[in-house]
Amino acid sequence: MSGESIQSGASGEPFFQTRGVVIVVQDMETYDWPGLARRAGLTTIATHIFPREIADFVKTEKGQAFLERCAALGIRVEHELHAMSDLLPRSLFEKAPGFFPMDEAGNRLPEYNLCVSSPRALEIVCENAVEYTRLLRSDTGRYFYWIDDGKPMCRCPKCRGLSDSDQALIVENAVLKAIREADSRATLAHVVYATTLRAPGQVRPSEGIFMEFAPISRLYDRPFRDREARSGDYPSHGELLDYLDANLEVFGGENAQALEYWLDLSRFTGWNRENIMPLPWNRAVYLGDLQCYASRGIRHITTFAAWLDGDYAARFGEPPVEEYGQGMLAFAG
Ligand SMILES: [Zn+2]
Repeated sequence: MSGESIQSGASGEPFFQTRGVVIVVQDMETYDWPGLARRAGLTTIATHIFPREIADFVKTEKGQAFLERCAALGIRVEHELHAMSDLLPRSLFEKAPGFFPMDEAGNRLPEYNLCVSSPRALEIVCENAVEYTRLLRSDTGRYFYWIDDGKPMCRCPKCRGLSDSDQALIVENAVLKAIREADSRATLAHVVYATTLRAPGQVRPSEGIFMEFAPISRLYDRPFRDREARSGDYPSHGELLDYLDANLEVFGGENAQALEYWLDLSRFTGWNRENIMPLPWNRAVYLGDLQCYASRGIRHITTFAAWLDGDYAARFGEPPVEEYGQGMLAFAG
């Protein structure tokens, strides 16, 4: 890699411009995440999981207190959301099954996502995205309305020739155009994850769509740069990095974000609260991974930190968020 590709800006700003965490409601309700983020030198806290849930949370006293404390401490708030089921209400299925995706066997299904060849379905998604953008303002102008978690897109005769990545990008291009009515600064993530690892081939991203890479199936006791490392039947680290590089070709690296799992206790427990344990934090792997992203020009880094909450801190002490933040601040290329 060239020296130029990873040096800090002339202003002396840290190389990593976004230094974030993504947490869930219980974390925000029971732990002083804004204070911890401030001590760790983080820039950003994103809420997670669903739009309706977060819109309800921010109306509560605890939700308001969270937003006020972030504002007071200079922590920017964003919302990283599995959104499609909230943007296209499932209750519409009975009257309009054609809004919903078809499976391989030709059945329309209400459980997830949409048919991107239905103009009215896309319109409803866009209208609701505008509503949520008004309710859940992003301090950075970056928005995250993802397709449903790990679910396939549509296989109807009109959609079938498009990959899930292309279908997701059709929705995102439309949503970005719409939400700029509510926030003229808006940019929108295309998430490269699960069913959308492959780079889109037929649809081009509009200006303002940025790539977010979430390698959920990788190993966390092996550096990402170990290309042979692989968990079960999932893609190897090398295959995941090849997907990343192919997507960087399409979306560019300038605003690209890595959404990692280094601090994601929910993932390490298999999303089972009965398995709560000390976070298996591996500082050496983490620091190597920063290099792996920086060498590709990625300057926006965040990680899920779900379930590192008040209960966790009482049992195991403060989670290693300061080491996480300091690792990015100290990064010199
Ligand atoms: Zn379709």
